[in-house]
Amino acid sequence: MMSCRTVAVVRALKYLSTAMTTDQGASTQRNDGSANQRRIPVDEAIVALLAQVGPVSDHERVPVLDAMGRTLVEDIPAPADVPPFDYATLDGYAVRASDTEGAAPDQPISFEVVGVVAAGGVTSRPLGKGEAYRIMTGGPLPPGGDAVVPFEGTDGKGFGGWDGSEAMSSGGAEERVAVRVQVQAGADVRRRAEDQRSGEVLLRSGTRVRPAEVAVLASAGISLVWVHRRIRIGVLSTGDELARRDHVGPLGPGKIRDANGPALLALASRDGADTVDLGQARDEPNSVRSSLLKAVDHGCDLIVTSGGVSMGDRDMVKHVIRDEGEVSIWSIDLRPGKPFTFGRFRGVPVMALPGNPVSAMVTYELLVNPVVRRMQGDRGTVPVEVMAIADQEILNDSGRENFVRGVARIRYGVLGSVEWHVRPTGPQGSGILTSMSRANCLIRLASDTNRVASGGRVRVRLMDASPLW
Ligand code: AMP
Ligand code: MG
Repeated sequence: MMSCRTVAVVRALKYLSTAMTTDQGASTQRNDGSANQRRIPVDEAIVALLAQVGPVSDHERVPVLDAMGRTLVEDIPAPADVPPFDYATLDGYAVRASDTEGAAPDQPISFEVVGVVAAGGVTSRPLGKGEAYRIMTGGPLPPGGDAVVPFEGTDGKGFGGWDGSEAMSSGGAEERVAVRVQVQAGADVRRRAEDQRSGEVLLRSGTRVRPAEVAVLASAGISLVWVHRRIRIGVLSTGDELARRDHVGPLGPGKIRDANGPALLALASRDGADTVDLGQARDEPNSVRSSLLKAVDHGCDLIVTSGGVSMGDRDMVKHVIRDEGEVSIWSIDLRPGKPFTFGRFRGVPVMALPGNPVSAMVTYELLVNPVVRRMQGDRGTVPVEVMAIADQEILNDSGRENFVRGVARIRYGVLGSVEWHVRPTGPQGSGILTSMSRANCLIRLASDTNRVASGGRVRVRLMDASPLW
């Protein structure tokens, strides 16, 4: 039996191959509007898109910090054990645990203190029966020692403490210490190789490097890693109404500012890509064509355009792509952002997004981001979602899967409950770009869900998930 995911892949591929070869989507759209065209669900569209692209084949060896946001192309084995030796996790006395058996506040056991070891120090003298070492956090356990008795479990004196009033600058140790607690072997000891065992795979190929991976690599002493090169994304805005980006002062009649160019450039660089600003094209085939050619000249791996993909007289983008390559036009079961075109212009994948700034940003998040991840070799392409409680009623009158801009917060309830809560940012018109700025998530309402009551559960896709004030 096929799994749900397999079914989705097969359906998506079938859809895509039909659309690519016969361009049925386009003709249906032009003749009948979108009414008769099957709307492809968002999740299927993503699967179909991912099947169209693969990771770039060029790799680079770069310093670990430059690998941030990029993807490893090698499994990385641990070169050595980390930590390299057993060490104390707090200040106290290193002992043989068995020697503490029976120790209690009213029945202390006296140990001979045979030395002091601090972080960075070494001890070669083994611990004999009834012997202890004063030991500081990070200090290697002496041979034979297998536990640490915290300072508080002894009558030991002379530790610096907060104010250092009793600092032992001499480094000397008392001759004896009374241990008042019984400890188990391994107590307050961090074991050799507890984190990384020599030869074990530390990080797998396909892992995106985040600060945590930088830390792991640094802890293993690895300074250079092989990663996929950054992909290069060309971003183009289209529309006769767009004022030049450097235009200052009042806008001319009918003109608007170009929000999408900068927004998409910002999204692409957030995703770790190099960007090429292709500027703006007019709603004329030659203008769009020469901008796309510029992308090819610049060696772009992916082109993202906005505007000009609807059914209007001046929507040129898909025709220009088709003239120089192949195109599939999709009606995605999505709001905001229904019109969408995927194609290849002279072999370079093009994702043509709607012009509406909210639609452009949302379709980037939903459709372009997984493609970028895949092209950069990232194995993780599925976004993080949580279930949340709607703090107010949310309506979906679109008949499509609706991605409502929202604010998600975690709330700590009485009786110790912890739950995600979410509320829409307010009016959801796809021209209300400020709603993107007020949001940290997209609330997903299925196409057949018209209404979620206050207190109902909804699926929430976290975006940057920053706290909002
Ligand atoms: P289109 O997809 O070209 O039909 O554009 C849909 C709407 O988005 C229109 O109102 C356009 O004026 C607007 N729009 C298109 N491109 C941009 C852009 N780069 N920045 C801001 N708004 C845009
Ligand atoms: Mg337009």
